[in-house]
Amino acid sequence: MTDLTRLTAADLAEALTSGEVSAREATQAHLTRIAEVDPAIHAYLHVAADSALATADEVDAARAKGETLHQLAGVPIAVKDVMTTTGMPTTCGSKMLQGWIPPYDATVVRQIKAAGMPILGKTNMDEFAMGSSTEHSAYGATRNPWDLNRIPGGSGGGSSAVVASYQAPLATGTDTGGSIRQPAAVTGSVGVKPTYGGVSRYGLVALASSLDQAGPCARTVLDTALLHEVMGGHDPMDSTSIDAPVPSVVEAARRADVSGMKIGIVRELTGEGFQPGVQARFDEAVALLTEAGAEVVEVSCPNFQYALAAYYLILPSEASSNLAKFDAMRYGMRVVPEGDPSAEQVMAATRDAGFGDEVKRRIILGTYALSSGYYDAYYGSAQKVRRLISDDFAAAFARADVLVCPTAPTTAFAFGDKLDDPMAMYLNDIATIPANLAGVPGMSLPSGLADEDGLPAGLQILAPAMADERLYSVGAALEARLLDQWGGPLLDRAPALTKGA
Ligand code: GLN
Repeated sequence: MTDLTRLTAADLAEALTSGEVSAREATQAHLTRIAEVDPAIHAYLHVAADSALATADEVDAARAKGETLHQLAGVPIAVKDVMTTTGMPTTCGSKMLQGWIPPYDATVVRQIKAAGMPILGKTNMDEFAMGSSTEHSAYGATRNPWDLNRIPGGSGGGSSAVVASYQAPLATGTDTGGSIRQPAAVTGSVGVKPTYGGVSRYGLVALASSLDQAGPCARTVLDTALLHEVMGGHDPMDSTSIDAPVPSVVEAARRADVSGMKIGIVRELTGEGFQPGVQARFDEAVALLTEAGAEVVEVSCPNFQYALAAYYLILPSEASSNLAKFDAMRYGMRVVPEGDPSAEQVMAATRDAGFGDEVKRRIILGTYALSSGYYDAYYGSAQKVRRLISDDFAAAFARADVLVCPTAPTTAFAFGDKLDDPMAMYLNDIATIPANLAGVPGMSLPSGLADEDGLPAGLQILAPAMADERLYSVGAALEARLLDQWGGPLLDRAPALTKGA
């Protein structure tokens, strides 16, 4: 039998539906793969073998009875550890929540369970989703399957690494400034941040509520579309959830058509500052889109140069407020200093021990930006810049159906490279952050291997809010042409994988 871990979610779903493969076999194959490779990659913080197999058995029993099942029933999935899950820990990569088993499922998790998808476990991430490398996880970094000495991106490096190393065909992610798209780019996988409000945030441990958005991670554009349709939809439990049907992204991915579309290259997000190999693969991919019948135009978004500065005021402001709930009183860790400490001393000792350096840095930045006397100068100005960035998008989308640029300026960097220089780490998200500030959807897909280091580069596609399906038709059209050129999936060339990691 073919190795079930190598199948796409779409192919696995077909094999399950036809009865060729059972959900137990599919789940067991992935659990075996996890046992083989995850000690080297460290993408999972928790593996839920028993409950995954129990779900698989339920699916097999239901199928045997002839019940109508969801098309992804029996297809295993990994869940980012920022999403609450009953019966499994949710730590957010933080010591603060070590061992916490939530009393409820995030809406996204509930939808995954309702589809009958066995949850293999929870994936590693930068603490509270702050970072671009997973080096800020309190449980140790995840390694990039392409090169075990390099970062898998962040904050959702665990989710991208599991799909890139065939430890799950699908994984969930969250993207506040790029945490789905940048890890996808540096691991040679696909990741999508849907339109803000397109996927429920209920049960996601909040980083910055006005920017956070959950979305799918997979190895192909069609697979991300299949998962997007499971995750998406209106949720009355989330006040910013869009009350509209989920966009028809699967149909768009199957259509894979760009003929007659206008593709805008964002001038400010190409060229200078981008690694030559990343830029070269991007230019070639754009040429392929032209061959496929798209018209390419150049657009300018002059205010994008302020996106990073605005983001690093808005995000810490919202994060400092969201993280105030970790006060040692209600849940999470509690450290009680010697003697007869006051509540304030317990809080201080707990936060000192429970939060890592990056989290503390952002809480301090956020409280400062929100403090009286500084609020207008910092937070207020950042909100005005946010509006200008939305205006830039509106002007660009008046001229183009989608925008494209490289997803990240470089390929995966080495561990420790940017750890002592927060600004250098932040710069990795220069191309992904504008979409979060404006709420528009974005996808990253592999564009090829950079010449300098042989590591994957990512191409980003951005669409207007609520037009998520455009990402999928353009992405799938490009992916089909790239696969022809490569003669098979890019991931087949990952050296650490072929050696069995
Ligand atoms: N890397 C960005 C940050 O550190 C994005 C994080 C995210 O999207 N969760 O804030």
